[in-house]
Amino acid sequence: MNFCTTCGAEVALQIPEGDDRKRYVCLSCQSIHYTSPRVIVGCLPIHEGKVLLCRRAIEPRRNYWTLPAGFMENGETSQQGAARETWEEAEAKATELELYRIYDIPHISQVYMFYRCGIEQGAFGAGPESLESALFEERDIPWDELAFPVVSRSLKEYFSDATQGRFPVRVAAIERRRKPS
Ligand SMILES: [Zn+2]
Repeated sequence: MNFCTTCGAEVALQIPEGDDRKRYVCLSCQSIHYTSPRVIVGCLPIHEGKVLLCRRAIEPRRNYWTLPAGFMENGETSQQGAARETWEEAEAKATELELYRIYDIPHISQVYMFYRCGIEQGAFGAGPESLESALFEERDIPWDELAFPVVSRSLKEYFSDATQGRFPVRVAAIERRRKPS
């Protein structure tokens, strides 16, 4: 951020008195502008044992496959947000949503919440942010063409749980990818 959203003057990164980390502080009106991690809500839509993936029509990672997910909006629940994203990106109506994973990604200040769900009548399409959508069995997942580490992690864990027929809710952290040495 460069300018104060209260008065429009310049802001600077400073540690406010009594605080322990840098914040954007307005040099004119002294307002402190806090930023918080962002919550991303999404679904693992399953139909007849296959997972619905969308191929991204937008950057970042255009052309790569992803689970329907996006930033949670003000005024909605995480479950409503996950269903909304599934409709917007894959034109699929999510049914029977069950919380499945929370992934903390601290180095980019994001929190993902994924719900397992069914797909009403197995019907889907492609919303404006998707080039296409498709159902994949485990052996057909395009592992090398997945958009984000959180997507491959979710899919691997889902198919592993599916072999047991049990889907316990877990919270996990995804660390920064190390450079190959
Ligand atoms: Zn200000």
